[in-house]
Amino acid sequence: MRIANVDGRLKLLVHGGAVDVASASDGRFDSDPARCFEQFKELGRWAADVDAPLEPFDETTAGPPSPAPRQIFGIGLNYVDHAAESGLDLPTAPLVFPKFASSLIGASAHVQLPNGSVDWEVEIVVVIGEAARFVSPADAWDVVAGLTVGQDLSERELQWSGPAPQFGLAKSFPGFSPMGPCLVTPDELEDPNELALGCELNGESVQLGRSTDMVFSVPEVIAYLSGIVTLLPGDVIYTGTPAGVGAGRTPPRFLRAGDDLRSWVEGIGAITQTFAAPSSTSG
Ligand code: ZN
Repeated sequence: MRIANVDGRLKLLVHGGAVDVASASDGRFDSDPARCFEQFKELGRWAADVDAPLEPFDETTAGPPSPAPRQIFGIGLNYVDHAAESGLDLPTAPLVFPKFASSLIGASAHVQLPNGSVDWEVEIVVVIGEAARFVSPADAWDVVAGLTVGQDLSERELQWSGPAPQFGLAKSFPGFSPMGPCLVTPDELEDPNELALGCELNGESVQLGRSTDMVFSVPEVIAYLSGIVTLLPGDVIYTGTPAGVGAGRTPPRFLRAGDDLRSWVEGIGAITQTFAAPSSTSG
């Protein structure tokens, strides 16, 4: 199943078009995409044989597939080559930080740069489909609603300021958590543990990786998190980025006004951000 958030309404994507879920189900499912994670398996069964009129789907209008998560997790240094370019040791347990919900934005967005050094991080993003506590890696895919494409935009100066890092704030400026264009359930993918991902800055490839290079796989991350917190339906996990970020380059390179950033994950789709100059009061 593939679903999307279009103008705040839940859509099922089929045959190149979209079905409005609330209308086609006569209200059995809420129109609000944030509500679908409370009855996600039921939605999947309904979607398997839906027969309804199709609307066109313009993915540039898609909002975040999970628009109101109660928790957003980021995983740092989770690709071997990215840890190496960062000059840091591989973590021995998942390195977890929060991203705050006000930073969420959809698939095609203009993002105003704050003052500082804003970097790109293409990531596979997991959305949780049921409450989960003490999940084993073997069972972890069962609690996943689906995967989407994300960018973990990061202001590096704030991130590394002070005596201890500021990951949460530095990755939560408005628009710093784009995701979309759709949510794809794991069964739609040939192997959800083995996906290519990458991003292009003004058409030039800057990141290209494979999720098999993750230090902690998606099931291992879910097992680790659910051993500490209760994962809730609609929760979002940014699962880490491969090598090729701007801070890892010589000389370092950061986003500038007018830049165009396209990020993609195999079998899911692509998102695009364009960047505007800092306002005189930001930063
Ligand atoms: Zn990241």
